[in-house]
Amino acid sequence: MTHAAACAAIAAELPALAWTTEEAQLARLSQDFSWFSPVLKRQLEGKRADIAVRPAGEDEVRAVVAACAKRHVPITVRGSGTGNYGQIVPLQGGLVLDMSGCNAFRWARDGAGRAQAGIRLGDFDKAAQPLGWELRWLPSTFRAASLGGLFGGGFGGAGSITYGPIAAAGNILGARVMSVEPEPQVTELRGAEALLVHHKWGTNGIVLELEIALAPALPWVEMIVTFEHLPDAIDCCMTLHGGTPGIVKKELALMCAPIPEYFVTLAEHLPKGRHAVLMIVTESSEAAARDLVAAHGGEVSYRKDRAEVKRLNRTLVEYCWNHTTLQALKVDKSLTYLQARFDPLRQKDQVLALHRKLSPEVMLHLEYIRLTDGRYTCSSLPVVRFTTEERLAQLAAAFEAEGVTINNAHTHLLEDGGKLRDMDRSALGAAQRMAAEAATAMKQRFDPLGLLNPGKLRSLAR
Ligand SMILES: Cc1cc2nc3c(=O)[nH]c(=O)nc-3n(C[C@H](O)[C@H](O)[C@H](O)COP(=O)(O)OP(=O)(O)OC[C@H]3O[C@@H](n4cnc5c(N)ncnc54)[C@H](O)[C@@H]3O)c2cc1C
Repeated sequence: MTHAAACAAIAAELPALAWTTEEAQLARLSQDFSWFSPVLKRQLEGKRADIAVRPAGEDEVRAVVAACAKRHVPITVRGSGTGNYGQIVPLQGGLVLDMSGCNAFRWARDGAGRAQAGIRLGDFDKAAQPLGWELRWLPSTFRAASLGGLFGGGFGGAGSITYGPIAAAGNILGARVMSVEPEPQVTELRGAEALLVHHKWGTNGIVLELEIALAPALPWVEMIVTFEHLPDAIDCCMTLHGGTPGIVKKELALMCAPIPEYFVTLAEHLPKGRHAVLMIVTESSEAAARDLVAAHGGEVSYRKDRAEVKRLNRTLVEYCWNHTTLQALKVDKSLTYLQARFDPLRQKDQVLALHRKLSPEVMLHLEYIRLTDGRYTCSSLPVVRFTTEERLAQLAAAFEAEGVTINNAHTHLLEDGGKLRDMDRSALGAAQRMAAEAATAMKQRFDPLGLLNPGKLRSLAR
């Protein structure tokens, strides 16, 4: 039986569920933002699910999963489809499991919270804030992206400057995970074990609920600061990041000129030719942040407090992270991006060297973050003027030649994207090898039939 025929049989067996069979809808549900990459756009063209379903709760998820397991139908779990690497593009057809109907907020208290995986991150924050808490990391896609999708495919976002990436110990408290078997099993994984399902692109279990650590909800102020000289802007950011523990921050990003010219809706605040720093600090930290800015020759050109951000329904978060690329793509469709991480000790020299060598073909955009081990550095989603795939590879090599780590943003294979480079066992230390083995065991435990998102894993493929 083909996957298409098996999917039709499953839909007939479970008629009460919300099925999608219409071609245009299926095409939409089979797509994410991998079109940011001309390489992925070409590779993933036309890949499509045979059917999609939007379960309204755990019982419906279980019924669908059991039916798929019995008929060996591939399952691609979908949050909101804002991923960048074709993570929800079903390479082998089958069923898209749209988790957006499993979106209940459970609770938030004492620095922790819990919700069903399909909840939108913005909705989670709206529910948690009146209780005094907010998310520790807000990807710039927070309005649409789901909690399960961030856990399954994301890194972090605004807030990672303080709390590091999602993967930092203490951020994820628990995950309720369903296996793909004729009799699906549901298990609550805690702490480090739950992290074995993180950033595995829905290949080693269906996440039903997540329990996460939260930050206190604070009155944030959003500011844009512009600089004439790049070294001054870098010094200001590095001091604000690693040298001012009393200033409470949520976001700090440096947009090297000419990136600010792409922020059309902020144009009046961005004088041409200047570098721009986007920062979010607490109201009580604003005065100290302004002193630091002035000492480095920066000029504040924009300032909005919490009430104005709400009234305008505009946050600078949506100009940071990969929204920087999106804002640029709105103006010029020929652009793409790279993903880089700078060395904590050499970051300033590396940034200046790459800016000098590659601008304006490569326009550096820096996000100041803490790493899983607590070190302070910046990562980069540089905006790149695309010409050919060969040239893109040369540009990535130029970063690596400066000692900057590149995570390939132009692959649909999990291991090749960098997050799972540790799965390349030959190049591993003992601790990493144990982590890789634990992740493999997790795959076997929750997906013994190899039906979850097939084609995305090379080294873990059965
Ligand atoms: C403009 C733009 C800006 C972005 N900014 C950021 C950013 O600031 N930080 C960041 O980390 N990422 C960012 N991303 C990437 C992406 O938006 C985030 O990773 C987002 O959190 C994904 O959520 P989603 O619900 O859209 O997930 P999807 O794209 O639907 O899914 C992502 C992966 O998770 C898996 N998955 C989803 N739900 C589940 C589940 N319940 N169980 C198991 N697996 C599941 C899917 O199979 C898929 O492999 C950005 C992307 C774009 C296009």
